[in-house]
Amino acid sequence: MGSIVDNFEDELQELREAFDSGKTRELSWRRSQLQAILSLIKERESDIFKALNQDLGKHHVEAYRDEIGTVAKSAKYALGNLKKWTASKRAKLPLAAFPSTAKLVNEPLGVVLIISSWNFPFGLSFEPIIGAIAAGNTIILKPSELAPACSSVLTKIIHDYLDNSAIKVIEGGPSVGEKLLRHKFDKIFFTGGGRVGQIVMTAAAKNLTPVTLELGGKCPAVVDLISSSWDRKIAMKRIIWGKFGACAGQACIGIDYILTQKKFAPILVEMLKKYIMKSFGDNPMKSNSVAKIINKKHFSRLKGLLDEPLVKSSIVFGGSSNEENLFIEPTILLDPPLDSAIMTEEIFGPLLPIITLERIEDSVEFIRARPKPLAVYGFTNNEKLQKRMIRETSSGSITFNDAIIQYAVDTLPFGGVGGSGFGRYHGKYSFENFSHQKAVMMRGYLIDFGFRYPPWNNKKLQL
Ligand code: NAD
Repeated sequence: MGSIVDNFEDELQELREAFDSGKTRELSWRRSQLQAILSLIKERESDIFKALNQDLGKHHVEAYRDEIGTVAKSAKYALGNLKKWTASKRAKLPLAAFPSTAKLVNEPLGVVLIISSWNFPFGLSFEPIIGAIAAGNTIILKPSELAPACSSVLTKIIHDYLDNSAIKVIEGGPSVGEKLLRHKFDKIFFTGGGRVGQIVMTAAAKNLTPVTLELGGKCPAVVDLISSSWDRKIAMKRIIWGKFGACAGQACIGIDYILTQKKFAPILVEMLKKYIMKSFGDNPMKSNSVAKIINKKHFSRLKGLLDEPLVKSSIVFGGSSNEENLFIEPTILLDPPLDSAIMTEEIFGPLLPIITLERIEDSVEFIRARPKPLAVYGFTNNEKLQKRMIRETSSGSITFNDAIIQYAVDTLPFGGVGGSGFGRYHGKYSFENFSHQKAVMMRGYLIDFGFRYPPWNNKKLQL
């Protein structure tokens, strides 16, 4: 079914031949494949739900909102815009170039490798696939081995619905990834952590292969005193969702920690507690609205973050866990030490540190002093602070008064900067990510200037 590890040389050859045949350049082929993605969602939705629940304990509402529904929306958007995106664009020329015409022609890159992560295994595989199809490439997908049920369903549905001579799945872990990286691709699109990102980039450099790295980091949320009680209520709900409601905090753009003013912290903690209980009940351990931790290794890693004595003593809510069902309770910590692992490493789980500052404006310096995040959030109506955050901090995106939502907006590019990665996708940016814009210039013979041709003499300089 396209996942035989020792045989992928033949599969890559088949993809190369499919690309060289020119069929993936045809708009009809691109349309048929995007349409097939919509069909597989419709007809295999329950298999996908089941796999997401098995690997991550995602409730089907969460699975639809974050993955299945989002992918369907993106496929529809690409279908609706395909003609416009693929059309060549006229370019303006200076008078000195007369008589000429010029245009920008989009061409596919070739055979592309997509390596995806386990936290949104369906979404993070299909979002780049949609862009790569729209741009006319052939594709090899390597999903994450840490979400095995999803990896297996992806392999099956892609085999059953898409053109297998042009789109294939290779399942496996790091050793399969490394084997794949020994081959030459025309583009590598990687979603994962910075350590593996370096391995991918090093392998790509050998063939001068362009790379997009969708990495992670610590995404801060600056939470200001919000005077309106209505706005506060909505802000709290969005913070709780932005931390615990998307894959239990195992989300690259999930809120990692909060920055707030010292005097506001006690009120903030109380409000957050209240909304955690509203969202997940009095006993969140029993809630089916919090996803589970992906595996024992990550469970122990998160427990390890909490078990540092000074971190443990900073817990103001939650803190309990159940290893058997890989559940960690939504947990709030107040001012854990800044040099503890929970504040120096990406948390990627349902632990929410609150760091207090004398003045909310100090949050700008706090963020600037750390690696550039994938996303920065500001819960504030203070326009001066908003402007400073936009101008003086650097991140893949910045969103005010909400979290994570920017991921689903087709007209916004999604991607990191600095340590959170580079390259961008979603909507038209996905199409561009997997395309080369070729400059095409057509000259006429009507006018010609002799000074541009040798032999050189000073007279030609005076012209
Ligand atoms: P990871 O880097 O361990 O693995 C990512 C992928 O790389 C997996 O498919 C894995 O099998 C593969 N891989 C692992 N070792 C490899 C090797 N040596 N050679 C080739 N491939 C290899 O990351 P992860 O645990 O899957 O994901 C967690 C990280 O990903 C977090 O840092 C998170 O923030 C980030 N992330 C980023 C985004 C984004 O869109 N920017 C989305 C999800 C996750």
